[in-house]
Amino acid sequence: MLKLLCNARVFAPEDLGIRHLLIGAGKILAISDKKDELSASVATEFDLQGRRLVPGFIDGHAHVTGGGGEAGLKTRVPPVMPGQFTTVGVTSVVGVLGTDDTTRDTRSLLAQTYALREEGLGAWCHTGGYHVPPVTFTGSIRDDIVFLHPVIGVGELALSDHRSSQPTLDELLRIASDVHVAGMISGKAGILHLHLGDGERGLEHIFAALQQSELPARVFNPTHINRRKGLFEQALELAGKGSTVDITAFPVAEGEDAWPADVALLKYLDSGAAEARITISSDGGGCLPVFNEQGEMLQMGIGSPASLMKTLKVLLEKDVPLERVLPAFTSNVADILRFHDRGRIHVGNAADLLVLDENHDINDVMIAGTWHVHDGVQQVFGQFEKRQNEEKK
Ligand SMILES: [Zn+2]
Repeated sequence: MLKLLCNARVFAPEDLGIRHLLIGAGKILAISDKKDELSASVATEFDLQGRRLVPGFIDGHAHVTGGGGEAGLKTRVPPVMPGQFTTVGVTSVVGVLGTDDTTRDTRSLLAQTYALREEGLGAWCHTGGYHVPPVTFTGSIRDDIVFLHPVIGVGELALSDHRSSQPTLDELLRIASDVHVAGMISGKAGILHLHLGDGERGLEHIFAALQQSELPARVFNPTHINRRKGLFEQALELAGKGSTVDITAFPVAEGEDAWPADVALLKYLDSGAAEARITISSDGGGCLPVFNEQGEMLQMGIGSPASLMKTLKVLLEKDVPLERVLPAFTSNVADILRFHDRGRIHVGNAADLLVLDENHDINDVMIAGTWHVHDGVQQVFGQFEKRQNEEKK
């Protein structure tokens, strides 16, 4: 079925002004400033009345199987329901394993990734988890990336964290080289997505890896860079060397030695670092633990995919231009992940689109041409979401 989206104020992420879009077969078929050029008698028309139309968010780091499990097995977080992504504007997601890559492994992560695809989302994953040697499906990092369609890299491998394997530089280099070469062979991202903990060493290992090898900087992709202010400063330096660095949209308490995602993004953009080398992810489904000096968990929150839209809304309420910050949620993520058909509103790209209302809230979510949210109401439910709704009746 064809859909004609009329009078959309398109941020592609660049501001294109008012445009009309013809959607069909899951893709953006045409974009024009003249509606007559697109009129198709079989198309259903939707008048967006000048509302802002932006690419769907690509969440490059979410624990789709549920993460956590750092204070006994009962603390394993349950899987994230598809609607927990779609209703908050996440149209594509990359799943990762974290601390617990023992009771959860690449098999369960792959299964959940395929399940999300069946539910209509764009879904990929990394192989491995916090630990070395990384858990894999085939027994080889390179084979996982080359032969398994959803697998695009290794992650989240932990550095500077008491939960890490304390990898040596040689171990890190070997893994990074496998990822890099597998990315070349497969045409996929080929990135080593690195969890950074609170440890004082910060990005030291990555700087050493760049100095002592021929590996390109793009292979090293650290996340949680805003969890310590000192780590953030190191990340600016690393971006200067060519790595793409990732902010996590976790809640930050008053007085904490961390930057909230909105502040971190503005600080990054104001620093003069390359604008294309910054992304934001949610850590959705992951646990947000606080540990004491002995590594015992004192408290635990759960990351939410909703933190992306919340961050964007805070930025827009500060009157930051949408086109300035939108790439970190969309096109920059698509570029580092080598998702060539998403992250931008272009002809031929997947019709993954969000409509924002005047209060900077999500009014509609389209994924591959299907409305998952329309006029603020969820239209498509995951298997178990639907069941829950029926039970309520
Ligand atoms: Zn992490």
